[in-house]
Amino acid sequence: MSNKYDVVVIGAGPAGYVAAIRCAQLGLKTACVDKWLNENNKPSLGGTCLNVGCIPSKVLLESSELFELASNGIAEHGVEIKNAKLNLSAMMQRKQKVVSELTQGISGLFKSNGVTAYEGHGRLQAKNNIEVTGHDGKAQTLEAAHVILASGSRPMEIPSAPLDGEFIVDSSAALSFESVPERLGIIGGGVIGLELGSVWRRLGAEVILLEAQDEFLTMADSQIAKEGLKLFTKQGLDIRLGARVVACEVKKGKVEIEYQQKDETCHEKVDKLIVAVGRCPNTDELVSPDAELILDEWGVVHVDEHCCTSLPNVYAIGDIVRGPMLAHKGSEEGIMVAERIAEHHAEVNYDLIPSVIYTSPEIAWTGKTEQALKTEGIEYKTGMFPFAASGRARALGDTSGMVKVLADAKTDRVLGVHMIGPHCSELVAQAVIAMEFGASSEDLAVTMFAHPTLSEAVHEAALDVSNSAIHIARKRK
Ligand code: FAD
Ligand code: NAD
Repeated sequence: MSNKYDVVVIGAGPAGYVAAIRCAQLGLKTACVDKWLNENNKPSLGGTCLNVGCIPSKVLLESSELFELASNGIAEHGVEIKNAKLNLSAMMQRKQKVVSELTQGISGLFKSNGVTAYEGHGRLQAKNNIEVTGHDGKAQTLEAAHVILASGSRPMEIPSAPLDGEFIVDSSAALSFESVPERLGIIGGGVIGLELGSVWRRLGAEVILLEAQDEFLTMADSQIAKEGLKLFTKQGLDIRLGARVVACEVKKGKVEIEYQQKDETCHEKVDKLIVAVGRCPNTDELVSPDAELILDEWGVVHVDEHCCTSLPNVYAIGDIVRGPMLAHKGSEEGIMVAERIAEHHAEVNYDLIPSVIYTSPEIAWTGKTEQALKTEGIEYKTGMFPFAASGRARALGDTSGMVKVLADAKTDRVLGVHMIGPHCSELVAQAVIAMEFGASSEDLAVTMFAHPTLSEAVHEAALDVSNSAIHIARKRK
């Protein structure tokens, strides 16, 4: 087989595998190189997302929520379950089954689309040659007219909490604990801290989150973040803000943590400690020095709005470039780059990337936050609707949270939608679609929504922008 390709993709995470499939669909001869090995030392496509990220974390979030509901959450529905018991090993086996079905699914998609998969480490050399070193150490060179770099990211490490793989661990290991830790510490009160903290709290751990910043969830709308902090604290997550970890030591099977909070030195002792302080791009072994790719000081590949790098016909997408580290953002970049290689017009709308935190209640948003609008001096109107006033949320018995719509004061165009509540991961798509089509709050307000649905909260929040929501008290003028 010839080693000459129209496109070679390095990395088969959600950015790279999607790019490879779309390239092949467009008639380009495409190869994808990936080096992931799973816990059985077998190649496994899908990158962080499928192997140790989005998918396994969501499986455990679903399973742990069912356990919590069965233990004490559904008696109010008149359903009594006596002695709900946790079988952690069965829960983990199910998680692994979902992961392997999906990762094998990517292999199937590669075959059916005609993408050639190479297992091993890919490194870009000068003149768009890619050296592939297989897991057996054997090297071969691929020639590519176009190269797409999609090597993803890995957990960031901090010197004050060195990982030991047993007591002080990263998010990947925290998806596979063999027993529920009695006391679990987490450094970082961001997305991973909250999601994995929720999983282990529901399964019985006492969870302490140490967050360096004084504010909670700074990337979210501050009103939604405040509501989240109140609800998560009520659930039992012990969230300590302004807490900077200074040192950690493993002594007699426990992790002793020293941290600074408001000029005070504090101590904690936990059974396991998860370090979840962000992720860094996998770019250190990606390019040989003679290829002269421009990276910033954090190793992020410099790209323009179309993901073109400093090298001709070399693109970079996903977690190794600017923007939020989200699977769907990388996938959309992959599709855009494939289309552009095929000389079609394609863009990514970076203003409308949806964000979701899969806690219970879920937090989701798209567009601008209220604090961003204030900083930018944009005049806006606000509409809000609490799930407590939604018939469907009442039927679910899940009434916490609200939907908030922000619209331009002059044009009424929707600028941001923020929500915390049941199934917000699904509801936010309505906001993204509306905003993608340039909707005004009135457009949403005159649209018919089925009753009784949680979506009606989006409708009512849009109606509330003009003080016309039906199911909440009228604002005084
Ligand atoms: P990756 O998924 O990291 O894939 C990169 C691939 O490239 C890997 O297979 C890697 O082995 C391979 N590779 C690296 N270097 C080379 C090389 N030199 N040669 C060959 N192969 C190479 N995002 C969401 O949108 N929603 C979520 O719910 C979500 N949950 C998450 C939960 C957790 C616990 C974590 C850790 C992350 C989560 N994320 C989530 C983030 C999401 O997983 C990442 O944003 C996404 O996987 C990035 O995609 P990518 O294709 O850029 O990189
Ligand atoms: P994050 O950026 O969401 O949160 C990291 C948190 O750690 C921040 O709040 C930060 O202030 C804090 N922090 C940093 N250094 C610290 C220190 N020394 N001590 C205490 N706190 C410290 O990062 P993450 O939770 O590690 O997640 C990594 C990436 O994966 C994120 O970019 C996220 O978008 C993605 N992810 C997404 C989802 C999702 O979409 N649902 C789920 C998990 C992960």
